[in-house]
Amino acid sequence: MSEYTITVIKNENPKSKPASDELKFGKYFTDHMFIQDYNMEKGWHNARIIPYQPVALDPAAMIFHYGQTVFEGLKAYRTKDNEIQLFRPNKNMERLNRSNDRICIPPIDEEFAIKAIKHLVKIDSDWIPAAEGTSLYIRPFIIATEPYLGVNPSATYQFIVILSPVGAYYESGINPVKIAVENNYVRAVKGGTGEAKTAGNYASSLKAQEVVAKEGYAQVLWLDGLEKKYIEEVGSMNVFFKIDGKVITPQLNGSILEGVTRNSVIEMLKHWDIPVVERKISMQEIYNAYESGKLEEAFGSGTAAVISPIGELAWGEKKIYINNGETGELSHKLYDTLTGIQYGKVEDPFGWIV
Ligand code: PMP
Repeated sequence: MSEYTITVIKNENPKSKPASDELKFGKYFTDHMFIQDYNMEKGWHNARIIPYQPVALDPAAMIFHYGQTVFEGLKAYRTKDNEIQLFRPNKNMERLNRSNDRICIPPIDEEFAIKAIKHLVKIDSDWIPAAEGTSLYIRPFIIATEPYLGVNPSATYQFIVILSPVGAYYESGINPVKIAVENNYVRAVKGGTGEAKTAGNYASSLKAQEVVAKEGYAQVLWLDGLEKKYIEEVGSMNVFFKIDGKVITPQLNGSILEGVTRNSVIEMLKHWDIPVVERKISMQEIYNAYESGKLEEAFGSGTAAVISPIGELAWGEKKIYINNGETGELSHKLYDTLTGIQYGKVEDPFGWIV
């Protein structure tokens, strides 16, 4: 690892902070940001923490035209004892570099990035809300900055980290949501960019989301891009099903994003000796399990909501009702344990807390 050297310029005009009950997801930003440049001669250089400010880019910067960009999402939590904790930041930095590789962006120094994130969070630690369920969302991202019109990798980049205080995802406890199985649009295909956290995947998901939202659904359940038979993800979360006492999640196949929460759920289930398998699972199999009364629970997993139970699945004309629209026992236990570890309320036997 390169030596940790970083310049810090403090913000002399800090903003007033929103009250805990005003927090919405991703609406407010703190007083500082991290930024680092890349060019061919120097590699990643000039790491600095500066006052939060707009980024000036040439209109020809390649990010605007060809979407060469990657991002991450993780959180800092304030414990009862006023300690600040991160949850598995190494996993996010590993994934950032896997995304970089797929989008032809030069790799970052993961250890350096974690130090810089800790440093930035420390500087803006007053922004980490204390109310139940609130946290500081951390958004690292990299953009292609070379002014050039032509489809090839940029010669220059910026790595930026911004912070956003966020409210409790669930205002009144965790609530099951209604999900529509998406039979028309697809999120990703094998050989595409589904397993990378890159902007294009999210831009291409908007239309499906817009259509089902009008019909009263919270999110779509994405199927595979080839046969539209096998389950991939739910909204921007990974998905799990509990059938006849066993937990099943779609296996990673190149078009599914490998969630840090997904990985943590799998490890936790193994720790509890609850059977869990990663394999292909079709929508027909879920429907059959429902009809035979064996579909016990279904839930999404992700950093924002942690665990999001599914109460109803609409598959064309067919409707699947899960656990009477209530949060299942396992979903509840996973949510309580994961958030318990994140907020330092329960012991962390996995060594996930930093
Ligand atoms: N799938 C997609 C497409 C996502 O954007 C996310 C959020 N990063 C996830 C799954 C869940 O990943 P994580 O548990 O790391 O938040």
